[in-house]
Amino acid sequence: MKRSNLLMIPGPIAFDKDVLNAMGAPTRSHVAPDFINEFGQAIERMRAVWQSKKGQPFIIAGSGTLAMDLAGANLVEPGDKVLVINTGYFGDRFGKLLERYGAVVEHLRTKPGSRPTLEEVEAKLKAFKPDIVTATHVDTSTGVVNDIKGLGALIKKYKALFVVDGVCSVAGEEVNMDRDGLDLVLTASQKAVAVPPGLALLVAGPKAMDKFSNRKTPVPNYYADWANWLPIMQAYEARKGAYFGTPAVNLVAALNVSLGQILDEGLDARFGRHQKISACCKAAIKALKLKQLPLKDEFAASTMTAPYYPAGVAGGDLMKVMKDEGVIVAGGLLPELKDKYFRIGHMGSVDIGDLLKTIAALEVALAKTGYKFTAGAGVAAAMKEYLK
Ligand code: PMP
Repeated sequence: MKRSNLLMIPGPIAFDKDVLNAMGAPTRSHVAPDFINEFGQAIERMRAVWQSKKGQPFIIAGSGTLAMDLAGANLVEPGDKVLVINTGYFGDRFGKLLERYGAVVEHLRTKPGSRPTLEEVEAKLKAFKPDIVTATHVDTSTGVVNDIKGLGALIKKYKALFVVDGVCSVAGEEVNMDRDGLDLVLTASQKAVAVPPGLALLVAGPKAMDKFSNRKTPVPNYYADWANWLPIMQAYEARKGAYFGTPAVNLVAALNVSLGQILDEGLDARFGRHQKISACCKAAIKALKLKQLPLKDEFAASTMTAPYYPAGVAGGDLMKVMKDEGVIVAGGLLPELKDKYFRIGHMGSVDIGDLLKTIAALEVALAKTGYKFTAGAGVAAAMKEYLK
């Protein structure tokens, strides 16, 4: 019997059947009344999930990188100083992207698996006086989570705009724009938001919208210009049809279903569930005596886990055995350590059964690649953590 593989990578993830049914339903006109209603509802639900009462949501066809481009194109004017709190691959990407829009970028970097302390960030804020600060909430290349609450409070004091790349966090890690002073939080559909790839999603808070409205120079990108999209978002929210670029009708319908499920579950319950599954995964990895990329437990995200391969085990072989056992994980992404570690995503509906299957497949793969460990140690540790 051929069974489908369990997709345990940090995005795209496995999707709920009601979300997939919305994807497979006959495509409607983008101005059909029921679709207009779903689009409007999705906009309202984004505000609730991002915890931003006054923010402006944007739902635009594209991937997470487009969401980053939307932030860059609309917020940056030539000469603006941007501090990138860089915890990996996606910090590098954000820096390069912002330079295209004329930003003067400085990176605050740390060694892989670490993150800058609030004191280090404050020293940089004093010295560099940035107009904008960006941070990757969870850098998917390292599995390191930034303390965006602490950063938000600090950055507010220095009057810079705080832009958060939440591609590997929104709807999985706690994001609270209003409480934490986050001025823009962007993501993509395919991770914890739990919708197939293809939507760039962001909420821009009042300070970000003010910076956009007070621009002295035109937005140097036609598709990304909020001036084109703002009237569309406002029209759909007012339950009126509008057109700038054809919306991804089925994806938007699927987004509305998924956001409804997220809010039905409750944000705190959802974040707690992600923390629990993550704790089970990390307990298993520790019990198997594999090191993890994040250097401290409190640096480790709850949406993913990044274990190192044991010495002498070829990563490709390990991942191949796991796939033969029906579980797909992802290889490394950080260029300097790419072949030394792998990544397990545990977002969306991942439950203890999925996780146990993943750890069991990992144990089979470790055994077949010659690693010495006590059989069942990982599975037992995950169960023990789960039943705590
Ligand atoms: N930022 C982060 C933290 C990501 O994990 C990703 C995708 N893995 C991106 C940005 C870019 O998103 P996309 O691949 O959808 O363009």
